[in-house]
Amino acid sequence: MKNAARNSQYMKMSNRRRILNIIRKQKIFRAELARQTGLTRAAVTNIIDELKQEGIVIEREIGEADYGRKPVMLDINEDRYYAFGLYLSRAGCSLGIVNLKGGVVIRKQIDISHISSADDALTIIAAETESCIAETGIDRDRILGVGISAPGPLDSAAGIILDPPNFDIWKGIKISERLREKTNMKVSLENNSSALALAEKDYGIGKDFGSFMLMVVDTGIGAGIIIDDKLYKGVGGFGGEVGHISIDINGRRCNCGNKGCLETYASIPAVLKDVSRVCKNISTWEAVVDRAIDGDPFCKSVIERESAYLAAGIVNVLNLLELEAVVLTGYIRYKPEILIANIRDIVNAASITRGIRDKKIYISSLPEDIDIVSAASLIINEFYSLGGAKNEVEQRCQE
Ligand SMILES: [Zn+2]
Repeated sequence: MKNAARNSQYMKMSNRRRILNIIRKQKIFRAELARQTGLTRAAVTNIIDELKQEGIVIEREIGEADYGRKPVMLDINEDRYYAFGLYLSRAGCSLGIVNLKGGVVIRKQIDISHISSADDALTIIAAETESCIAETGIDRDRILGVGISAPGPLDSAAGIILDPPNFDIWKGIKISERLREKTNMKVSLENNSSALALAEKDYGIGKDFGSFMLMVVDTGIGAGIIIDDKLYKGVGGFGGEVGHISIDINGRRCNCGNKGCLETYASIPAVLKDVSRVCKNISTWEAVVDRAIDGDPFCKSVIERESAYLAAGIVNVLNLLELEAVVLTGYIRYKPEILIANIRDIVNAASITRGIRDKKIYISSLPEDIDIVSAASLIINEFYSLGGAKNEVEQRCQE
């Protein structure tokens, strides 16, 4: 009997999750929801009534009424719950509150550049969370937790930042546990690329794909891989390290211990170092791109080579995982037309599915302030994946 009760509880949560994941992507009629889920109308009604009672789903009137009532569609009540997003990078620290639809309610830039200990930095961050709550007047019970997006490598399961280069005060810090102690909120940690991939899935080009890779090309090369709408993390959270795919077994030695890693050729600092051997007065990626657009043959060749490196990494990933699309972001977002056209050509000529279907390669169009939204996505995705059960989110983050 106990097992039967557990099974029915599991089924209910699973159905709530399916329904919420459909409604968060699109406003929808009840009948259409029954069609898409294959559930009976009665089952859909039960779950919707429950979600409405909990204030997570609301019905909004749309359009004009022909006779009598206007038609109503189901939608997420975005202000039912919120999450904090804390974005840590080498350039700075930003914090904000985000609603269930990714809307930014408040955002703060926090200067911790003069701080020399993680504990002092976390004290400042915790005080800023309090002032965000006070300034917005949001009820504390409506805040699901704090998502932290930080540079890797990190141990997301244990909530520890390991040893990212040039990120000294955070090295080896159990950031999730320490921030939880200071704020009394649930905390979840993930690397910048993975958090960005979740945001791309929820609010960007990734909305149209169940399985895709977000690839970040800036000071390093990172990626977040989404498979069946979920972040692929590997066994211990270190999956998706596309920057450390080798493109030359006799190539440059990488800090990770491997040789010829993609990152040692195609990260922007690596590209600029190679450029400086030929031309001393080009010191930014923007300058390379601008000159290439003006017809400079050397800069055109730099972009061609960068396209070839990135395409090699992308083909490896696509052949292994057969994803639907790749979304690129990072410094290479600057006037990306030449680069992206080259990458598309190479990938579609070299991947195993050539001639069957084209691989879709895009540049991310999410705004710059997606940083805190991506961090908050860690908590918000957890909420939806648990069928909108707030208590479950709290328990899961505490484990
Ligand atoms: Zn490496």
